[in-house]
This record gives sequence, structure tokens and C-alpha cells, in this order.
Amino acid sequence: MAEPSSIFAAAPPRERQLLSIVVPCFNEEEVIGETVRRLNEFASEVHDLDLEIILVDDGSRDATRGLIREICRVDERYKLICFARNFGHQVAVTAGIDAAAGDAVVLIDADLQDPPEVILQMIGKWREGFDVVYGTRMDRPGESLFKIATARAFYRVLGRLSDVPIPLDTGDFRLMSRAVVETLKAMPERDRFVRGMVSWVGFRQTALPYRRAARFAGTSKYPLRKMVRFATDGILSFSTKPLQLSIGMGLLSAFVALLGIVYALALRLFTDIWVEGWTALMIGVLFIGGVQLICTGILGEYIGRIYNEIKRRPLYVVQEYVGFDRNGPSLSRSPVVQCRER
Ligand code: UDP
Ligand code: MG
Repeated sequence: MAEPSSIFAAAPPRERQLLSIVVPCFNEEEVIGETVRRLNEFASEVHDLDLEIILVDDGSRDATRGLIREICRVDERYKLICFARNFGHQVAVTAGIDAAAGDAVVLIDADLQDPPEVILQMIGKWREGFDVVYGTRMDRPGESLFKIATARAFYRVLGRLSDVPIPLDTGDFRLMSRAVVETLKAMPERDRFVRGMVSWVGFRQTALPYRRAARFAGTSKYPLRKMVRFATDGILSFSTKPLQLSIGMGLLSAFVALLGIVYALALRLFTDIWVEGWTALMIGVLFIGGVQLICTGILGEYIGRIYNEIKRRPLYVVQEYVGFDRNGPSLSRSPVVQCRER
């Protein structure tokens, strides 16, 4: 009888380890050429690792996609994942992680604010045995005071509220071992706050301080609206303290209302000025109403997220994979629409 099907044969052992670099890109036509040049420069200094560079086009409306396609055509280390629309930075990063085949995976922004050379130091730490090497920003030149101040405040509030310790001033620029990547892939949540999720995973993690550069060209793809959403995702996904806060506010207002009731009754029973007090009544009603609305709002935020989770839609829709194997990367999270060799 013939040997059982060869699909069970083990893959040939790979001698060199593979490093995957994931780069989310949204309307980055002005920077993508320079980013690839800098990544190639970095790659020429890496001698003992194979590289795969996965560019995720998060529904760009400019020339980004065409430019990346061209890069993939001439250099087979580059791969492309095209989203069917803009799904957001965190989801783009997730798609890259899902598709990465490397023994370690690095996340890096497309705008060169995170210098690719720093990855060399990350690789060093990884070889020392760390599973996560995250870049901590020592300074952020070229960003508005508003952005720096809100980011600073956000990381501190998150640090206070979060149920898992999340390092301060740390973005998504980081290296993760295969073990961490596999754990992330098993986390199905939809409101994705990747840096928090990586902290939650555990294993051996270490910080690598680096100087953040200014954006190479173009403008930030994080308008205020996306920043607020990102911050809400971070806090609500990693903390239930706002719910406790709403109970606290409810109790406080009930207590104040009780004092008011006692006061009103005392006036009514023991004095003859009881017709007055309309002001107090209004203040009481408005105050309690306000607190109730806040509490309902907080509840609503969580319930909205529960609703979102139970719909179980795919997290993203890929229009096309370019440069991966014939069947595309092995994926569980997304329907594959099209897969091109190159
Ligand atoms: N990005 C993305 N989808 C989005 C917004 C941003 O893929 O909806 C990418 C963007 O191309 C960049 C990275 O996420 O590579 C970080 O965005 P950006 O530099 O604009 O944010 P900032 O550094 O200003 O916070
Ligand atoms: Mg940036």
C-alpha cells in the first residue's frame, strides 16, 4: 500500500530563523518609498536571519497600494495584505500578526517615527531570551504639544485603571516571539488594544528605550476622533473600574439626596417656611438626573461592546494577499477573497 498522504510529512527544517516585520499603512504614499529604503538598509545589516516584511494596506485612498504592489513585484521579501476598507491601525496590525510566519514578529509604524535600526537591539534582547521587547519613547519630537500632553495623560490614567500593568509611553513598536504571537492569535476580542493585549499575555518582557523621530512626511493618520476611540478601547478593554466608579457616583448622589430629603422634611414639619425650596428641589432633580445619565452612559459603553463581540463578524476583510503561499497564510479570522503569487 502506498505511504499515507504526504501532506502529513513534516515541513523541511529551516536552518535560519525568520523575522517578520509588520507595517500598517494608511494613505502613506509620501513615506512608503523612504520606509522601504530604510528597511532595506536595516535588512543589509541582518546577516543571520531571513526576513519577511508584511505591509498591510488599511484601505488607503491614495497611491499607497500601487506603490506597495510594485515593491512586492521586485523584492520577494515583501508581502502585501490589502483590506477592503479602512479598519483602523490596531486591526491592520492584527492582520499582519495573523499572517506572519516568523519566529519573531516586529511591529513598526510606516512613518519612520520608529527607527528601523532599533530592531537590531530588539533582536539582541530576543536572543537573550526575552519574548517581548517593547520600545519605550524617551521623547517625541515633531509632535504637537496637544498630542504629547494627551498621550502622556492617557498612559498615566490607563496605568491607574488597568487591571494588568501596561508600560508607560510605549506604543506598538515591539518585537514578539512566536509563543506570544500564537497567544495573541488565540485572543478573539474585537476592540483590540494590541499593546495592552501583549502585556496581558505575560512571558518575559523587557523595555528598550529609544528616541522617537518626527514623522518623515505627511500628516498623522490619527485625527482626534480616532485618538478618542483608541483611548476608550484601551481603558474599557483593560479595566472595569469605570463601572465601579459609576456605582460610587450613584451611591454618593443617593446619599446627598437623602440629606436633602431629611432637610426638606424637617422644614416641612418644624418650620413654616416650607413653601420655599423649589431651588433645592430643582438642584436635587438635576443632580441625580445627571449622575444617572453618566452611569447609564458608562453601562451603555460596555453593553455596546458586548453587542459588538456577540455578532462575531470577521475582524477584517482582506481583498487580496500578495506574495504569500498559494493558499494564503493560514488564517482563522478573515475570509480570503483573492490570493496572488506576486
Ligand atoms: N494607520 C493605519 N490605519 C489607520 C490609521 C493609521 O494603518 O486608520 C497606520 C499609519 O499608516 C501609521 C501607523 O498606523 O503607519 C501610525 O499612524 P500615525 O503615524 O498617523 O499616528 P501617530 O504617530 O500620529 O499617532
Ligand atoms: Mg506616526
